[in-house]
Amino acid sequence: MDVLLGYTLSQLQQLCEQEGFPKFTAKQLCDWMYHKRMASFDGMTNLSQKIRARLKETAVVGLEGPAGSQKSKDGTSKYLFLTGAIAGEETPSENDGSRYVESVYIPADGRNTLCVSCQRGCRMGCRFCVTGKQGFHGNLTAAEILNQILSVPGSDELTNVVFMGMGEPLDNYEAIRRTLEVLTSDWGMGWSPRRLTVSTVGITPMLVRLIEECECHVAVSLHNPFGDERGLMMPMQKAYPIDEVVAMLRRYNWHGQRRISFEYTMFGGINDDRRHADGLVRLLRGLPCRVNLIKFHTSPETDFRSVPMPEMERFRDYLNREGLTCTIRASRGEDIMAACGLLAGKAGVTSCTSL
Ligand code: SF4
Repeated sequence: MDVLLGYTLSQLQQLCEQEGFPKFTAKQLCDWMYHKRMASFDGMTNLSQKIRARLKETAVVGLEGPAGSQKSKDGTSKYLFLTGAIAGEETPSENDGSRYVESVYIPADGRNTLCVSCQRGCRMGCRFCVTGKQGFHGNLTAAEILNQILSVPGSDELTNVVFMGMGEPLDNYEAIRRTLEVLTSDWGMGWSPRRLTVSTVGITPMLVRLIEECECHVAVSLHNPFGDERGLMMPMQKAYPIDEVVAMLRRYNWHGQRRISFEYTMFGGINDDRRHADGLVRLLRGLPCRVNLIKFHTSPETDFRSVPMPEMERFRDYLNREGLTCTIRASRGEDIMAACGLLAGKAGVTSCTSL
């Protein structure tokens, strides 16, 4: 069965031509899927009975609500999505969480952000990350990424999407590019690319493509300004050294509305002293960017420890005095393991409440 979610207008036009449907059917399908979030062909009432019947024989829409959810006391919600089912994979056994991914809905004054996953697990192996510890179980399709955005409760009130959930977006570039195309095209959801942020450990060749082919904001997971120390936490440093990533970023114009930011999770005794602050200033001086400090959340799976807030504030203030724009990212959803680095579909299977 074809999954139509994630199809571009021209792909739908091609399909309609093959099937002998009127040309305008492609636009109607876009409208039903990307604006009205219609999960069944039966509900697409302006298509003829004959077209609906034929579509049901050969395809599915691909919209499927979450399999579970948890709500934090701060209003953040975590949703669990089963992947692979639409493509025909068998229902996983109760103990197999590898096919589940998580999305986090973060409401804040006038702004509702969804953090989406793009892979089952991740192969980047960052030492501090629960997802990384799971290993890699496969890429999500564009349909499975879009499904998180379109099927999550409160979807029509979303203002922003960040690609910072499970997985490394640029390790699944084609699906991410297609997702961005659907989100920003007139025939798709028509969003401004400024509502979208793609995060990466810095896979340089794919990052160049993202910058040149898409207009979204970019976030680089930095976590340590010194290559040798960063490499101990992030194995991808060996293949894509951070100073080379930053040198590449300097070739582009970041003075307009498009934003480049650096994520810096603070680990007690590892990257939180004056030497690291000075290293950050040296690495990023003159690049129009923002540094987001993130509080690390201790979990049973890691030995890293978090940094007390007053020390994080001192670190932030020092960077600001030295000319870097630096903020502390508000921590959300800690009590439901929804905060940065804590997403692990399998853990959710046992703890999510069924909808
Ligand atoms: Fe993958 Fe991101 Fe976790 Fe690193 S921090 S292992 S890139 S999910």
